Amino acid sequence: MPVTVNKDLCIGCGACLASCPVEALELDENGLAECNEDVCIDCGACVADCPVQAISQE
Ligand code: SF4
Ligand code: SF4
Repeated sequence: MPVTVNKDLCIGCGACLASCPVEALELDENGLAECNEDVCIDCGACVADCPVQAISQE
C-alpha cells in the first residue's frame, strides 16, 4: 500500500520529498505533501523522516 499524508498535520517542510528514493512525493497547490500512489514503493523512509508524523503506512 502507498503511504497516506494527513494534510491536517503536514506543515509542508519538504523533509519527506528529500527522503523519498523514487520521488513519489510532491507538494500540492497548498504546499502540503501528497503521494503519487503509482510511484511509491512503500519503503517507509518518509514515514520515519516526517517531523510531525503526518505520513502513515496502512
Ligand atoms: S514510502 Fe518510500 S517510496 Fe513511498 S513516498 Fe515514502 S519514501 Fe517515497
Ligand atoms: S515531512 Fe511531513 S510535514 Fe514535512 S512535508 Fe512531508 S508530510 Fe509534510
